[in-house]
Amino acid sequence: MEEHLSLKEKEQAEEAMIQQAFQELLNDYLATKHRKRVEIITKAFNFANHAHKGIKRRSGEPYILHPIAVAKIVCNEIGLGSTSICAALLHDVVEDTDYTVEDIENIFGHKIAQIVDGLTKISGGIFGDRASAQAENFKKLLLTMSDDIRVILIKIADRLHNMRTLGSMLPNKQYKIAGETLYIYAPLANRLGLNRIKTELENLSFKYEHPEEYAEIERKLAATAAERDKVFQEFTAPIRAQLDKMGLQYHILARVKSIYSIWNKMQTKHVPFEEIFDILAVRIIFKPKNMEEELNDCFDIYLAISKIYKPHPDRLRDWISHPKSNGYQALHVTLMGNNGQWIEVQIRSERMDDVAEQGFAAHWKYKEGGGSEDEGELERWLRTIKEILDDPQPDAIDFLDTIKLNLFASEIFVFTPKGELKTMPQDATALDFAFSLHTDIGTHCIGAKVNHKLVPLSHRLKSGDQVEILTSKAQRIQPEWENFVTTARAKAKITEILRREAKANQQKGESLLRDFLQKEGIPFDASAIDRLTNLHNFHTPDELMVAIGNGKLVLGDADRNLFKEKAGKNWKKLLSFSFGKENKDAKEGKEEAKPAEGKSEKIDTKKILKLTEEAISKEYIMAECCHPIPGDDVLGYIDEHNRVIIHKRQCPVAVKLKSSYGNRIIATQWDTHKDLSFLVTIYVRGIDGVGVLNEVTQVISRQLNVNIRKLIIDATDGIFEGKIQLYVHDVDDVRTICNNLKQVQNIKEVSRIED
Ligand code: MN
Repeated sequence: MEEHLSLKEKEQAEEAMIQQAFQELLNDYLATKHRKRVEIITKAFNFANHAHKGIKRRSGEPYILHPIAVAKIVCNEIGLGSTSICAALLHDVVEDTDYTVEDIENIFGHKIAQIVDGLTKISGGIFGDRASAQAENFKKLLLTMSDDIRVILIKIADRLHNMRTLGSMLPNKQYKIAGETLYIYAPLANRLGLNRIKTELENLSFKYEHPEEYAEIERKLAATAAERDKVFQEFTAPIRAQLDKMGLQYHILARVKSIYSIWNKMQTKHVPFEEIFDILAVRIIFKPKNMEEELNDCFDIYLAISKIYKPHPDRLRDWISHPKSNGYQALHVTLMGNNGQWIEVQIRSERMDDVAEQGFAAHWKYKEGGGSEDEGELERWLRTIKEILDDPQPDAIDFLDTIKLNLFASEIFVFTPKGELKTMPQDATALDFAFSLHTDIGTHCIGAKVNHKLVPLSHRLKSGDQVEILTSKAQRIQPEWENFVTTARAKAKITEILRREAKANQQKGESLLRDFLQKEGIPFDASAIDRLTNLHNFHTPDELMVAIGNGKLVLGDADRNLFKEKAGKNWKKLLSFSFGKENKDAKEGKEEAKPAEGKSEKIDTKKILKLTEEAISKEYIMAECCHPIPGDDVLGYIDEHNRVIIHKRQCPVAVKLKSSYGNRIIATQWDTHKDLSFLVTIYVRGIDGVGVLNEVTQVISRQLNVNIRKLIIDATDGIFEGKIQLYVHDVDDVRTICNNLKQVQNIKEVSRIED
């Protein structure tokens, strides 16, 4: 059919499709509470449509459908207004066409141009080929973000649409994009309160990295849906009756845990799908009778429903009195249902629900109603980011990790001695708290009193702690502090001050050394410095200078003698001659191994690499960190010597590689036939009893082609735990073994672990 369409007809059909997509966007926009600035949005659309004319996406669709889709997300899912919608429509114009930011500014004014400029600056993806470029781009992103938060919100919308359409990309690109998304965009979305988008980004990343697991969890969720619905209906019926009696306007939703969260829990807790008990949660969203009563209503509902079901004493989460710093507010309570299962109930007002779904954009919506305190939280967070950016950060990777610390952290609440409330990231130490108060307090901190008890600086704080910081003017920053602070702010400050001190010491050391050598009549040159560096076992001349500078090393007779004994040097030379041949061979062998092992021709990352047994045993390297075996979801990484290293996709090292060196990632496919054996470790846990060990070994020995290498069993208080190292061929072998072990009566938990 299609062939019969003339080019012109095809173009007309496409144009109609484009116009329809835009009309949908306009309708969505008109349905919002924003000002009806249809004219400028239409102008932006016409401009972008013209600029991208004739360009197609990889999927074959006209390019303009992408900016329209991004604008729709910005409007419907983030709740932003016309300025952002225009910027979203124009977001790829400067990057992909001949138009410049000035052109945009002339037509659409300064604000829109500025946002488009910010988006263009970070358009190369946050992560380039080199880690340094990656950090540079990331820094740019954060800078533009602190200029105007809408830049990052639109960027997230852009990423969301790219993830939704990831299927048409090459597999190696898919891993790179999925990896980046999980590494930075999902945490960013979370930090900005875009809950629903964060969940979707995680799910989509997971779907592309572990398609089979994704499909399996999806299937199991579908198979158990009817049962969950029954539980939901039964559980909520008395709640509804009670809320009706209270005369509240509300609706109740069943919340199903996301596929990614389920998988995450299965991984970290080593449990199968069937043992995840919090898949269903219940959400009550109510309309307060008047806004002043909003918080009270939450607690009233809590009291009412905890008369129906028994609440779990340790699981009341009050995000009402202390909202999360991404603005999230709700009351979470866990109740015992009639079937003996704990069910979490989330209580929110409509306003709180909007904030939870749309993040900070929703805050602005409610701003005129007063109570804009939460917006201050965002400002504070942005200020921290700015402070970190203002400090010079020499090491690119450190910088990224530092920022990420702040993105991932969930929060605790602690109090100052005066009762002032402070929000800190989880795992923050007393020293982190000191630095959060003031750099000076951190620098001179000698200890802390937590709940009136003396604790060391490395003490981890818990929610509700009252913390008093003890300082002394004599205290100075210690290098080991870097090892236990967890907040970006403290880490950046400590590194900066240590570096400054090292620099001063180095200069002092240099001048002391110069004086010393001058007195001895020895020239101050590289040879003299190298010999002293070796004599005192330092790695670099800089370390030597610092040690002299801070007084840890005092130059003396041994150093003088070094320069007097000329014989020493000759003796060394002699030694290196007699062993010369051997040494040389060893060295050459090592150096040659690198280029020889890797193929000299470049590996094409666009093709899918077949992992045959021959290639695995001769060419490719199985990563030591995650020990992949045939059947695992893996990817290849081409290192600087052109060697292929195979990692599991969820391996933390691989996650970092994906984000830092995305262009060196290659998609792979197993092509093995049970010829090679691989070592895996299986973890078992159960109730100790006579004969359990015997049964375990029997199960394993019954299976063909599997050999035990090592078995460690440990029993305490009637529970035994074991690690079994086995040689297997692939994941099928592992699955069979695990299933058989699960049949053993007293074994409660079986899983494959990394080591
Ligand atoms: Mn785009």
